[in-house]
Amino acid sequence: MKIIAIGRNYAEHAKELNNPVPTTPVIFMKPDTALLKDNKPFYHPDFSEDIHHEIELVLKICKEGKHINEKFAADYYDEIGLGIDFTARDVQSRHKEKGLPWELAKGFDGSAPISNFLPKAQFENLYNLNLKLDVNGQTRQNGNTKDLLFSFEKIIAFVSQYITLKKGDLIFTGTPEGVSAVKPGDHLQGYLQGQKLLDFQVK
Ligand code: MG
Repeated sequence: MKIIAIGRNYAEHAKELNNPVPTTPVIFMKPDTALLKDNKPFYHPDFSEDIHHEIELVLKICKEGKHINEKFAADYYDEIGLGIDFTARDVQSRHKEKGLPWELAKGFDGSAPISNFLPKAQFENLYNLNLKLDVNGQTRQNGNTKDLLFSFEKIIAFVSQYITLKKGDLIFTGTPEGVSAVKPGDHLQGYLQGQKLLDFQVK
């Protein structure tokens, strides 16, 4: 399986990092070794002084497809969950300055904690979902999928022009504003529509 992630998919988050609001989706990938499941602790790597949390809605792909038409893209994901796109912001900034790829800032071990997945059919409107992240009981991010720049269907149509999607692939759909650094000892709790799906420690 592979993990595809979308950068700058909420305008307010693009602005908080002084990035332009994109006109086509910004795509990057994480290896499967980035996955962290079952609310296991995240071990803060020592190569970064500035690991940021980015809470994101994650789609699980349910069948293979390429060149998927946006009209049919909704048939290609059947479950959703929450994930954290952990980002070594200091490493990313250095690479951005030089125009280099982001993999080391985005794809390191444990950089993709994911929750259990829920059938999308149990949600009334996928474009009015609240995602919230608390750190040590304080809310740091509180966003809503109504503010997405590129819909889930647009993302699937766009990505599948280049990369075949397969059953079990995950798509991180971007983070709302409020990203900030985590440190060892922090307790992260992520909520989808008020339901706690993520609950783990930083060590
Ligand atoms: Mg992200």
